Amino acid sequence: MDGAIIDIKRFTLHDGPGIRSTLFLKGCSLRCAWCQNPEGVDAAINLWYFGNQCIHCCQCESVCAYGALLLDEEHEPFVQINKSKCTRCGACMASCPTRALSFDGKTISAAAAAEALLRDVEFYRQSGGGITISGGDPLVQHDFAIEVLRLCKKEKVHTAVETCLYADYEVLERFIPVTDLFIVDLKLADDAMHREYTHRSNELIKSNYVRLAWKKVDLLTRIPLIPNITATESNIAALARFIREENPDGRVELMNFNPLAVNKYVLMNKSTEFFEGMKPLSASEIEELQKLLESEGLSVVKEHRRLRSEGR
Ligand code: SF4
Ligand code: SF4
Ligand code: SF4
Repeated sequence: MDGAIIDIKRFTLHDGPGIRSTLFLKGCSLRCAWCQNPEGVDAAINLWYFGNQCIHCCQCESVCAYGALLLDEEHEPFVQINKSKCTRCGACMASCPTRALSFDGKTISAAAAAEALLRDVEFYRQSGGGITISGGDPLVQHDFAIEVLRLCKKEKVHTAVETCLYADYEVLERFIPVTDLFIVDLKLADDAMHREYTHRSNELIKSNYVRLAWKKVDLLTRIPLIPNITATESNIAALARFIREENPDGRVELMNFNPLAVNKYVLMNKSTEFFEGMKPLSASEIEELQKLLESEGLSVVKEHRRLRSEGR
């Protein structure tokens, strides 16, 4: 069974306990306005052009046998990619002298992914670590993710998934026997705001959260702190009440905004307007929000971590 992945990172420290390896899968059902890994939301593997690295040598167009590249001296971007014609053969990438063309992922079998994840198994055992499947969202390529988790569990390795919980419960339920820790994102308590900023309702997410909590799985709830959107007293207080009612013994962690993500939007020729003037919260602002969670009796992870935004 094959899956489309962004990458496999070794020696990760923030995706569950101990030293871990993390598999980042492509595909996400949400479209968060602040997405810190915009290359991960589309499940398909795409070719990207990074204009700031291009020296206009025209090599790529001449090697493309499918007519998928058009060079345009008059307009931006100089290299235009026709996704419907691109077969992802990689010839243009190989010919580019400056790495101005790049795929945002690759295809790999579940067995090969598990083998790569299990490479550092001795470190996991010594540190109480394991492997994590993240994304994108692992629920999108669920058959592939479950197979990788099954292969890792067979080797008695601790497994975690990081998910936004947007899928039918029947899909989520299949993860339970092969997952030791669910790291789940809750973003906005208000459904209208959730729709506005993620393009989806939060109803399914909340109902999956409640059902997972009933199952008494190990559940770490993470809330991304996006200035003036999720990182408001009213939103954190409303999420705290929801978590206290449905999962009072669970841990909660606030994840600070990471301005590095903006660089990716620039590289991908995407608008950065949303991020204008946005700064990470200060330590004291985070501590105030942590106090709100604690006032509902929740156990708060007291780290000040930022949202992950891997560099290209
Ligand atoms: S849930 Fe995560 S990966 Fe998916 S769009 Fe939102 S921020 Fe991006
Ligand atoms: S990956 Fe292959 S088909 Fe796609 S643009 Fe490059 S050379 Fe053409
Ligand atoms: S081969 Fe690379 S540097 Fe040359 S035109 Fe194409 S993208 Fe630009």
